[in-house]
Amino acid sequence: MITRRKRDEPLLEDSKEFAHQRALMVDRHVASRGITDARVLAAMREVPRHLFVPAVVASKAHGPSALPIGFRQTISQPYIVARMIELLDLTGSEKVLEIGTGTGYQAVVLSRLAAKVFSIERVNELALRAVEIVRALRIHNVSVKVFDGTYGWSDQAPFDRIIVAAAAPEVPEPLVQQLARNGRMIIPIGPEGNQRLARVSRVGTRTQIEDCGTAEFVPLVGRFGWKE
Ligand code: SAH
Repeated sequence: MITRRKRDEPLLEDSKEFAHQRALMVDRHVASRGITDARVLAAMREVPRHLFVPAVVASKAHGPSALPIGFRQTISQPYIVARMIELLDLTGSEKVLEIGTGTGYQAVVLSRLAAKVFSIERVNELALRAVEIVRALRIHNVSVKVFDGTYGWSDQAPFDRIIVAAAAPEVPEPLVQQLARNGRMIIPIGPEGNQRLARVSRVGTRTQIEDCGTAEFVPLVGRFGWKE
């Protein structure tokens, strides 16, 4: 079984074996846990997750768990990526803002399901690595910038969808402001050990919040997040 990327292997190395492992990952850890959106399942079968995971944990790239990516951060487990994206209800035409690029994996899955993805990461090294993979995969509808994502990306607002991959103390006000009419945002809220996934919908001038179950994310650190 080929599970480890060797240092001298080209970045784009993919194979039938990896495709097979992804199919198993989607069946066992995503579809069997209740994700039914066929577009989300197809995107996760296609995006080469092993390229985004650091070499030391590459053997676990297609497993059920979150994995360390350095800088005390993690790449979310496949089920959570699928669940958050499913809750976004993407049709293919949306402009999406992601906060917390991390490895870039979720941004690339999103890039197959939406028109444009703008992703913000606060750790420079993670953003650089993510951009390198996005370029190597020749993906042209993902833009990454290094910034405090709790401010959003005002030049590009409004966004049809916003997805936050780190947990905030409360919904950051700038993100609500940058949500389009009829837009939706998925964001984990709460302190470590006690987080809930929230779906914020903008209906005209009102916002509505729905509870979507428990969550376990790293903290969203920033001006409208947790303080360092
Ligand atoms: N979506 C990522 C995983 C994200 S982990 C993936 O697919 O790999 C959460 C990320 O949020 C971390 O990389 C962390 O550095 C980042 N983060 C935390 N607070 C942030 C902020 N205020 N702005 C931007 N990124 C932030």
